[in-house]
Amino acid sequence: MQQLQMFIDGRWRDGTGGGEEVINPATEQPIAALTHASPADLDEAIASARQGFEVWRRTSAYDRSAILRKAAQSLRARADELARVMTREQGKVLAESKVEVLTSADIMDWYAEEGRRAYGRIIPGRVAGSRQMVLKEPVGVGAAFTPWNFPALTPMRKIAGALAAGCALIIKPSEETPASAIAIARALEEAGLPKGVLNLVFGVPARVSEHVIASPAVRKISFTGSTAVGKLLMGLAAKGAKRSTMELGGHSPVIVFDDVDAAKVAAVAAGGKYRNAGQVCISPTRFFVHESSYKKFVDAFAEVANGLKLGDGLAADTRMGPLANARRVDAIEGFVRDAVDKGARLRAGGERQGNNGYFFAPTVLSDVPDDARIMREEPFGPVAPIVPFKTFDEVIARANSLEYGLAAYAFTSSEKTAAAVADALESGMVGVNSLAVSTPETPFGGVKDSGHGSEGGIEGLDAYLNTKFVAQYQPA
Ligand code: NAD
Repeated sequence: MQQLQMFIDGRWRDGTGGGEEVINPATEQPIAALTHASPADLDEAIASARQGFEVWRRTSAYDRSAILRKAAQSLRARADELARVMTREQGKVLAESKVEVLTSADIMDWYAEEGRRAYGRIIPGRVAGSRQMVLKEPVGVGAAFTPWNFPALTPMRKIAGALAAGCALIIKPSEETPASAIAIARALEEAGLPKGVLNLVFGVPARVSEHVIASPAVRKISFTGSTAVGKLLMGLAAKGAKRSTMELGGHSPVIVFDDVDAAKVAAVAAGGKYRNAGQVCISPTRFFVHESSYKKFVDAFAEVANGLKLGDGLAADTRMGPLANARRVDAIEGFVRDAVDKGARLRAGGERQGNNGYFFAPTVLSDVPDDARIMREEPFGPVAPIVPFKTFDEVIARANSLEYGLAAYAFTSSEKTAAAVADALESGMVGVNSLAVSTPETPFGGVKDSGHGSEGGIEGLDAYLNTKFVAQYQPA
C-alpha cells in the first residue's frame, strides 16, 4: 500500500502523530496509508513557514511567477495520471478529475501572472514635494484547511493565491483525499520553491487547526468546508485577531422562469446537479420552476437522472461516481426519507445502489414541502428537489429565505428579468442562463452563512496582501 507523507521544511517525511488509511469510495478498499502530524511536527511546520516567508517575501514577484508557472506546466503534463489518482480517492468520474487537474494548473498560471501585478498607487499629497504611497505587502504565514470534494482545485486556490502574494502557507488538505495536494506540493518543490514556503500536514482536523491557528506566527486563515466548522475556525482566528477567508456551505436556488424552454433548461440543470454526485458547494440544490412549465421540467429532469450510468469513476461509461464517504450516503438517505414522509413525490432514484461502495442513485423529488429538511439544509449529494412557483416576488422571497448565500441561478430569456433577479438574489455569485460561475480570474465566495472573502480573481490575491500607507515628506 502506498505511504503518503507530509512536506515539512522542504522534506517529505512521516509524522509522529499516528496515521489513517485512505479509502477508495467505489470499492471501500484501503488504497494508501497517510501519516499524521503530532503537535511537535506542527511546530516544526510553523517554524519552517516563518523562515520560508522571510526568503519568499524577498524573492521578486518575477521569480516567484517563474516557479509557479513551471509547477503548473508539470501538473498539466501529468493530468491523466493525476486524474486517476483523484478518482480513486474521491470517486468523481475520470473526465471531471482531469478537468479539475487542468483547471488547477490554470489557477496556478493565473496567479503567477497576477502576482506580478500586485502593485499599489501614489496619491497626490497636499503639501508640495510630499508623496503618499500605498504599498501592497504579503500578510505573512497563512494556514489553510480544505475539504474532500475538490482535492486539487480547492488547495490550489489557497496555495496559488498565498504564494503569488509572497506569503508562506501551511496547508492541511482533507485526510480523505490527500494525494492531489501532495502532487501540487511535489510540482512546486521540483519547480524550485524554497524550503518552508509551503508546508503540507495531515492529522485530526480539529487538533491541527486549533494548534496552528493559535500560533502567533500565523496571520491569515483560509477555510473551505461546512458552515459549522467555518464558524468554529472564525472563533479561533478572532482570538488572535487574524484575517480569514471562509468559503462555507451553500444551498443554491435555481429559478426557471416561464420564458425559457423548460426541457432544455432541465437537461442543463441536471448535468450540473449530478456533477461530482452533487458534492459541490455551488451545486444547484433548490429548483423553483414556474408553474406553467413545472410538469415538463420535472419529466425532463427525471429522464436525465434515470438515464445516468452510475459506477466506478474509472470506468469509461460511468456518468456519476460514488459519494465520497459513507457519511454522505447516510445523510442523503435521511434527506430523501424525510422529504417523502412529508409528502414529496419520488421521480427518480431515492436509494443506495449495490452492496459495495458508497453509491446512491441520482434522485429527483417533486412537490417537496417547504418544511422538508432538504429545502432548508445543504444536501451535498445527488438529490434534486423541484418545486413550483407563481410570481417573481414570491420566488425571490423563497430563494432568499435561508441563511446561505453562496451561489444562485436563474434561467430567463428576458434581459429585464435577468437584471432584476441578479439584483434581488442575496448571493455571492449569480449565474444567469448558466451554472458556470467559477473561473480562475473571477471572484468566488459567499455572503451570509456561506462565508466571507473571495478566492479567485484579483480578490483572491488581495486576500493575502496587507495595505500599507506611507506618507513621505521633504526633510525639515
Ligand atoms: P465536516 O463539517 O466535519 O467537515 C467539513 C470539512 O472540514 C472536512 O474537510 C473536514 O476535514 C474539515 N474539518 C472538520 N472539522 C475541522 C476542524 N475543526 N478544523 C479544520 N478542519 C475541519 O463534515 P463532512 O462530513 O466532511 O462534510 C459534511 C458537510 O460539509 C457537507 O454536508 C457540506 O455541507 C460541507 N462541505 C462543504 C464543502 C464546500 O466546498 N464548501 C466541502 C465539503 C464539505
